[in-house]
Amino acid sequence: MTDPIGTLQQFINEAEHITFFGGAGVSTESGLPDYRSDDGAYTELERQKLDPRRVMSKRYLINYPEKFFNQPNKNKKWIKPEPNAAHLYLAALENKPKDVRIITQNVDRLHQTAGSKLVVELHGNNRHFHCMVCGREYGPKEIQKDEQNIPRCPIDNGIIRADVVLFGENIKPEVLERAKELIASSDLLIIAGTSLTVHPAKNLIHYFTGKRVIVINKTPLTIDLPIDLVIQESVGKTFKKLSI
Ligand SMILES: [Zn+2]
Repeated sequence: MTDPIGTLQQFINEAEHITFFGGAGVSTESGLPDYRSDDGAYTELERQKLDPRRVMSKRYLINYPEKFFNQPNKNKKWIKPEPNAAHLYLAALENKPKDVRIITQNVDRLHQTAGSKLVVELHGNNRHFHCMVCGREYGPKEIQKDEQNIPRCPIDNGIIRADVVLFGENIKPEVLERAKELIASSDLLIIAGTSLTVHPAKNLIHYFTGKRVIVINKTPLTIDLPIDLVIQESVGKTFKKLSI
């Protein structure tokens, strides 16, 4: 067990059903800062003396749409993120073919962009939108905004919002159920780039009854599960060293 990358490679090679459970740290190397890091959205709002739990909630969206859609972090220049070595490796592994399942806390769709076919998005995604009145679905390029910068449905003038889980909203039960099933039926669980502090993500990993657990995270994690391998390194850098 002296070479952690070699051991990681061996565990992946030997596994049949791999579940990759990822958080913000999986996307940082794609240019998306961790929500709570210094240049993340959460911290930016706090700098503006705004309470993120309030202004990124469904209640705030409904009561103050003109404020919700005009927050400083919402109008930042959008740089299109690209999948990094971790996203690309996992997609390539699935093509091998190997049964790779992704459960992500990120909303950026980078796993799908890389080519992964089985992705459970715990917090939804920010590339799909729907009208809150009629439910019509919209892509990012189809959205029209009113004079207050609020995205509006041309049919009924309803507010169009991203399919993300806001504060005060719950993860959809069917999404949680699917995540549980995938974790419970895998023999290798890779937990990467997440501090696992947010519920119910924290509880999900307890459904694992398989063979091995790997943690790849810059900071140490305390979880209530025996861990077979810990790699204290960034997720992208780690996957860059692996071969298919
Ligand atoms: Zn509508």
